Amino acid sequence: MHVTHALPLAPMTTLGVGGPAAVLAELHDPADFPDFAALAATRPGPPVVLGEGSNVLAADAGCSPAVLRMATKGVRVTGTGPDDTLLLEVQAGHPLGDLVALTIAEGLTGMEMLTGIPGTTGATPVQNVGAYGQEVADTLRHVTAWDWHLGREVTLDAAACRLGHRTSLFKHSRRWTLLTLAFALRRSALSTPVVYGAVAAELGVPRGTRVPLAEAARAVLTVRRGKGMVLDPHAPDRRSVGSVFLSPEVTPSQATALRAHDAPVNRFPDGSTRVSAGWLIQHSGLALGTPITKGVRVSTVHPTLVADDGATATAFAHAIDLVRTHVLHHTGVHLTSEIDFLGDWPDRATTEGP
Ligand SMILES: Cc1cc2nc3c(=O)[nH]c(=O)nc-3n(C[C@H](O)[C@H](O)[C@H](O)COP(=O)(O)OP(=O)(O)OC[C@H]3O[C@@H](n4cnc5c(N)ncnc54)[C@H](O)[C@@H]3O)c2cc1C
Repeated sequence: MHVTHALPLAPMTTLGVGGPAAVLAELHDPADFPDFAALAATRPGPPVVLGEGSNVLAADAGCSPAVLRMATKGVRVTGTGPDDTLLLEVQAGHPLGDLVALTIAEGLTGMEMLTGIPGTTGATPVQNVGAYGQEVADTLRHVTAWDWHLGREVTLDAAACRLGHRTSLFKHSRRWTLLTLAFALRRSALSTPVVYGAVAAELGVPRGTRVPLAEAARAVLTVRRGKGMVLDPHAPDRRSVGSVFLSPEVTPSQATALRAHDAPVNRFPDGSTRVSAGWLIQHSGLALGTPITKGVRVSTVHPTLVADDGATATAFAHAIDLVRTHVLHHTGVHLTSEIDFLGDWPDRATTEGP
């Protein structure tokens, strides 16, 4: 375990903002976790976990609780299940992209549409990561986690994780540090049915078609690149957290009114009806590239917020508030932020302790 003091968080997040972590431990070997628990006990509050920092806004003031940067890696087959499934156990710090690539290479379906999503596997249940018709809830079987409340390791099955639309038991809670994740993936050379129009068009197939895994992943990646939804160190919109806002749930009357304006309103696996946050942002008059606060603007390729030189976490948080107010005023729909406020935010609800 590598421990540092007063290390800036900015370079460890994809937005590139945020002050220093008072104490940060990088965990490579799961056997070192008890050492981290001892270190965390010397700091105020329960620790904060950081993966690849692709869904967080780290405070300019930094972070006074201990920060655990999860860098444990490894995937192992632990058994087989019904319907020709293979059970995989994955270390929490394992890059999701590497896991997805492995499943495709091994002829396992269930994750191919998650190609191009940055971050660690351990962060995926936190907001039930998903895209293009697949989400972690489809394949997750159980997790092991350190429960800071009980002071011991626990195993939680998928139902106990309460995975919902970009949410779970773990969202906005610091009670659990996820250590390993168990997935069940079905052996198949073909993908799950292609449900997104843009991906189907890229493949030149009707919706509902199943295609070879690698072809599905390639098409998803092309569609994602077109929307700036793949991290690219050379792109002008590279300082991103993906979608800043959740697709908000709408009432039946709002759905009817929005559909009359050709808004993308869709039913989600949890039974909710939601409208695209990006559509709302653009149709409330915030065009691509619009500056919002100092160093923060709407991306030039997708209606989400990105950072430039001069951005601070405070300016980014302020931009979130301004966009939310603007969209509410113009559309009557309330946007909720999808990203996590990490560290010492004096006037914001950050993740709760146990
Ligand atoms: C370009 C881009 C595209 C994206 N596209 C998508 C998308 O299509 N779909 C989607 O769902 N998301 C998307 N995201 C968001 C992001 O990639 C995911 O939320 C990802 O799971 C975050 O992983 P991370 O390791 O970077 O987590 P971090 O950003 O480091 O952490 C996110 C949250 O999870 C917590 N956390 C992390 N690891 C653990 C752990 N081991 N135990 C407990 N808590 C933990 C953190 O404390 C924090 O609250 C995108 C982001 C970017 C930048």
